[in-house]
This record gives sequence, C-alpha cells and structure tokens, in this order.
Amino acid sequence: MKFHLTPSGSKLVTLIPGDGIGPEVVESACRILEAAGARVEWEERQAGASVFLQGLATGVPDDTIESIRRTRVVLKGPLETPVGFGEKSANVTLRKLFETYGNIRPARELPGIATPYSGRGVDLVVVRENIEDLYAGIEHMQTPGVAQCLKLISRKGCEKIVRLAFELARAEGRETVHCATKSNIMKLTEGMLKRTFEEIAPEYPEIEAQHIIIDNCAHQLVKRPEQFDVIVTTNMNGDIISDESSALVGGLGFAPSANIGSDVAIFEAVHGSAPKYAGKNVINPTALILSAVMMLRHLGEFEAASTVEGALLFALEQGKTTRDIAGDEGGALSTTAFTEAVIERFGEKPSGWKERAYKPLRLPVVSVAPDFVHEAERRVVGVDVFVESALGPEELGHSLEGAVAGSRFALKAISNRGTRVYPPTGALTDCVDQWFCRFTFANGAEPTDAEVVDLVQRVGAHHRWMHVEKLQEFHGEDGFTKAQGED
Ligand code: NAP
Repeated sequence: MKFHLTPSGSKLVTLIPGDGIGPEVVESACRILEAAGARVEWEERQAGASVFLQGLATGVPDDTIESIRRTRVVLKGPLETPVGFGEKSANVTLRKLFETYGNIRPARELPGIATPYSGRGVDLVVVRENIEDLYAGIEHMQTPGVAQCLKLISRKGCEKIVRLAFELARAEGRETVHCATKSNIMKLTEGMLKRTFEEIAPEYPEIEAQHIIIDNCAHQLVKRPEQFDVIVTTNMNGDIISDESSALVGGLGFAPSANIGSDVAIFEAVHGSAPKYAGKNVINPTALILSAVMMLRHLGEFEAASTVEGALLFALEQGKTTRDIAGDEGGALSTTAFTEAVIERFGEKPSGWKERAYKPLRLPVVSVAPDFVHEAERRVVGVDVFVESALGPEELGHSLEGAVAGSRFALKAISNRGTRVYPPTGALTDCVDQWFCRFTFANGAEPTDAEVVDLVQRVGAHHRWMHVEKLQEFHGEDGFTKAQGED
C-alpha cells in the first residue's frame, strides 16, 4: 500500500475525532504519537453524529471520503449511530465505501491489568471478515410474520480473509491459524470459508492450519484461550468471538482494532462513544492508543510503535490506570494525566514483556474486477418456490400437485422453516405461513426460462408467492441443501 507523504516526509493520516468520548481518546493518542516523534501528520475530518445532524444520511461527508481516498489511512474515534435520524451507521458506510474486508482484533494479556486469566499468556488475534455474511444486511419480510436475512459468502471474500489471516501470522511470527466456522450446519456458506482455508493453507507450510467449529471455539476461548494464535472467521462469528476475546484481557477499554482493505486501512478502538462520559476527562484511552500503535506498524513506523507500546504497558504495569480499572476510591488518573504518564515513560518497557518481531504485513493481492467463477459443468435440476399460505401442509401439497399437473415439473417436497412437512414424515413441526416448495424437473432435462415462468404462474394462480430460486448442480454436486427429512 502506498502512503501519502507530506513535504516533510511524514505520512499523512485522516483523523476523525468522532462522537462522545471520541475526541478525548483521539487527542490522547495524537499527543502521545507526537511526543514519540512518529512521522505522522493529521488531516482532520468529520463523520458521525454532527454530520447526521446536518442532514447527511450516510454520516460521512464528501470531503472526508476524498481525504481517505488520498491518505488511505484513518485513525478514528467512535461514531454514534443516532436513533431516529440518519439511515445508516457511519461506521458501516466507511467500512463498505473503502471495502475494508478484514477486521483485525488482537487480545493480549496486559501487564498490570488483572483478569481471571492473568498469568496464562493469552495472546491471540481474531481476523474477522468485515463485509459479507449476515451483516451484508440483506433482509426481507417474506410474509407479515416471517423475516429472512440472507447469509452471503463469496469465494473471493473467503480468499481475501484467509490470505490476510495467514499473512498476519507471518508478519507477526505466529505459528497457528485456526479457521472457525459452523460448516457442519451451513455446509455451503460457512463451508466455503473452510474449503477455501484448506485450499490456501498449504501455501503457508510453516504455519499450522486447524479447523474448529465456532461454538467449540467460543467454549475453548473461555476454557483455554492460550491455545489460540490467529483465528479467522466469518463476520458475525467474528463479531461475537472478538468481543469475547477482548473480555479475556480487560474488556473494551483495552481492545484495539484495524479494518484492513486493499487500498485503505481504518484504525479504531472497539468501544463506542460512551456518551455518559463525554467531556468528563475520565475514560480510558488505551484502546485507541493501541489502535494507533497498530497504525504505526502499518505505516512502517516500527520504532515509534515500539516506544509507545512499551511506555503504555509500563504505565499499566506500574498501576497507572483510569477510573474504569482504578474505581472511584481514589488513585484513578484522568484521561489527560494517564496520557502524560505514558509520555513520561518513553524508553521503558514492562518487565517480562516480549515484543514481537513485527514485519510489514503483505496484503493479499486480489483483483478488483468483479469475480466471475466459471464452472465448466452446471445444470438446473429444479426450482424452489416460496409461498405464503394459511393452508396446512397436506392441503397445500394437494393444491400444488394439482397446479403443476400437466407440466414437466413435479412437487418433490414442501418444508416449513427447514423441515419437510409434505409428504409427511411424522415430525411434529410447528408450521408458520411461509412454505418452501421444491419442484423437480422431468427426466434429467433442464427447464427453459419459459417453463420456470409457467411454473410460477401456475403456483401464483392459487397462492401468493414471494421468492423463486433455481436449484443448480455444479459438477454433478448439489448447489443447494436439503430440508430436514428430505431425501
Ligand atoms: P460503548 O460506547 O462502548 O460503551 C459501553 C460501556 O463500556 C460504557 O458505558 C463504559 O462502561 C465502557 N466503556 C467503553 N469505552 C470505554 C473507555 N474508553 N473507557 C472506559 N470505559 C469504557 O457502547 P454503547 O453504549 O453500546 O454505544 C454507544 C454509542 O457508540 C452508540 O451510538 C453506538 O452505535 C456507538 N458505537 C460506535 C462504535 C464505533 O464507532 N466503532 C462501536 C460501538 C458502538 P461503564 O458504563 O461500565 O463505565
């Protein structure tokens, strides 16, 4: 990634102070970086609540976007998502605008921060896919009583995040990458990440590659977190286990993150704008300072990163903490006093702290052209039609069989919330008004579009339908799953 250099040779970074406690944590990090002599200059821009208030629904103005396009690196405070106005989260807008597909969240035991895991050597990084999955936010009300959220996973998205995880392991000298999925249940979507991981892992022979089911991963994170090094996972799983991982080492006040894309990287604390503490000079700036340390390493400013990290951790080891850790009994430092305490300790490091030998992160090179995966052999073998009906399964089945009589389609099965209910299986399924009706096509032939349209019209003459999906085989393998009880 090429950075924007200023005339003095510093790297230009877009700085977004953000909302609530954002300006305080950002000011703390900037003050520390400046004192450490980091070769960074700031270009301050706005996003978030103040922008929503001006009536801009994305929460991110054009001059902020233009600055990020130029600098390619952002340090940002948390942004509020106001309830009642502003249609989108400004955070999600930024993430999507700049395709920051990888969310990197380290969780390492910190000196002086006592947790039930202290002394176990927790030191892991969660690499979370940041764009796809259920968080693509593609939702539909299929009937007035049934909502659907599409879980979209692409081969290209999987390849990028898997490569990023292995490259991160290389850059940080880590030994193991776990891929955490729910591929035992979601064989096509979560399974795609697992398959991609298994294909790419041999390119990194020095790194041990292991697959783990996500629920066991969550369990193991609580039981024996020190076994993990890098964990790569899909968006929602990553959201959950990265918060869980932060809790192992002290919680939100200590959790940094980087949103990495091929062109832009955005560094921010994991916590939000904690509005009740805004302007009170009491909050903990550690998460944003650690995010700034990650940013310095991204910019190749390894020495400044090491100075800041060492001093920060030494301050924590010496019991210099803010109210979230020290409590209200006295001894808590204000945000600004904590900032100065870090600066006073430049050149120091905590006893027993072993800094990693960081190397520059080599970003995966992925074509920006739309991905088109060619499959030499594919065949349409049927059609699923989703219908809304107040009938019971038997009645609906007979009605649909009658509707398609005389066509080359035959009703194979009807399922309700993923369980086959027609032909009946004996299962005690509690049915709702959304039915998923599977039609197969005669004699191994492929239906024409006109035949698919005819099928929909035949069904639609009797029942309200809301969704149609072709059933495809790729290389003779089903490109669709079967309902529970479907043969
Ligand atoms: P939050 O702002 O993270 O705050 C939740 C609680 O965490 C605080 O009340 C406080 O706990 C503690 N906390 C968070 N940061 C802290 C810090 N630096 N130092 C000390 N304690 C800290 O979560 P929220 O209340 O759910 O969200 C508030 C707003 O932030 C929302 O508008 C949300 O959309 C936004 N948000 C933005 C981002 C982002 O920009 N990336 C991320 C998350 C949320 P105690 O009350 O126990 O003291």
